[in-house]
Amino acid sequence: MDLFKKKPINRIAVLSVHTCPLAMLGGKKTGGMNVYVRDFCSELARRGVMVDVFTRSQDSCVPSIHELGATGRVIHIAAGPEEPLPVPEVANYLDEFVSGVVAFAAHEGITYDLIHSHYWLSGLVAGRLQSFWDDLPIVQMFHTLGHMKNQIATNDAHRAPQSRIDGEMKVIHDIADVVIAATPAEEAQLIELYGADPQRISIVPPGVDLQRFATISRKKAKQCVGLDRDGQNILFVGRIEPLKGIDTLLQAIGILRERSPHVLNAVSVTIVGGDPNADTLDAEMARLQTMREALGLQELVTFVGSKDQMMLPFYYAASEIVVMPSHYESFGLVALEAMAMGTPVIASEVGGLAHLVRDGVTGYHVPSRDPLAMAQKMFALLNDSVEQWQMGASARAYARKYAWSQIVDTCWEIYQSLLWERTEDVELLPHTLFMPEFSFQPPSSLPFAV
Ligand code: UDP
Repeated sequence: MDLFKKKPINRIAVLSVHTCPLAMLGGKKTGGMNVYVRDFCSELARRGVMVDVFTRSQDSCVPSIHELGATGRVIHIAAGPEEPLPVPEVANYLDEFVSGVVAFAAHEGITYDLIHSHYWLSGLVAGRLQSFWDDLPIVQMFHTLGHMKNQIATNDAHRAPQSRIDGEMKVIHDIADVVIAATPAEEAQLIELYGADPQRISIVPPGVDLQRFATISRKKAKQCVGLDRDGQNILFVGRIEPLKGIDTLLQAIGILRERSPHVLNAVSVTIVGGDPNADTLDAEMARLQTMREALGLQELVTFVGSKDQMMLPFYYAASEIVVMPSHYESFGLVALEAMAMGTPVIASEVGGLAHLVRDGVTGYHVPSRDPLAMAQKMFALLNDSVEQWQMGASARAYARKYAWSQIVDTCWEIYQSLLWERTEDVELLPHTLFMPEFSFQPPSSLPFAV
């Protein structure tokens, strides 16, 4: 195969059936996948690729087509009631969704060269679209896997239904031409838990918007988010969900308060995500607020609710430490964003976080559900501004390797290989491995303004 001969790719259909890439982030069901689809497709559109993202309409008052950069569009397809639905219910409307997508393309007189689908429901839709669209190649990303959800579930309500596991199996074995895994850990899960063919898996991590998450002076940032400019802040950002392990953070702060109260003299803890002012608090938010009170941490810990992503750079820059105490995380974009801003991350050594955060270099790993270990690492970092700076500098340098331009280049190669495979009867390239290497040594002197 001549690697320099490119196949033309004019138009890509991206499927994000159950959640819209433009949705407000930090809610119950909106997070990393929405950001991935939005930023990945924006980068494609920046390059002039025509990209249509199809998502189920959740509000009939929202315009059905929304532009995404110069050549991208988000297209809301009516399928079932035009209102938010629990994810398992969305599965009842997949045929309607497929008909809507096919009718849209026919009405516009357009065809696609490839489908890139996100989450298992979209994978099923991709499979059904193939029968209308001449067997187009399908690239699939799961973002989370039902089997992994089940491994950490503490009760039946948290378990993935069998229909999801069956759906994932079908997508892996019968539908996707390539499955993109975010990390080597996800690749191993696909192989071990689902029997996926390793030749059909490529590892490509998500990226980070380095323009958005660029350096801001810490003093200015503290002022912008209303934090004491002489104090230190510990930050959590994410959905308020049991699997995010925010209770471990609260318990760790409780331990520090009990054993080393002096270290918390000028420290605040800010929790971004969810809605702390809702008339009826969501169960996890209520549980965490009760725990905060029981531990006597009301003065220290503030729930500020979800924030527009445009505001997050200020929160990251205003913080000395970002914590991700998750029980499981398929990737962990928040850690990458914090690192891009030069803030060290203390993260559970699970899933994508174990791969993303470099222990002792860009932050620390701790075992999940271990408040004492988390308290020890927080204590160490709060007391050592030199280490904070060094880890922050390493983190910033490391995150640069995850620029979206690089991620999209790698996916583009996968698209190209697939189209070659279809049209020239050549074998698919062995899986494309994108794994940022890291060898940055920060200078030993402190910069003048931290
Ligand atoms: N996020 C946001 N506002 C919030 C909370 C989260 O914009 O109030 C964004 C955050 O910047 C990140 C994403 O939501 O890009 C969360 O992704 P992550 O992979 O950390 O977690 P997930 O939600 O996928 O579990």
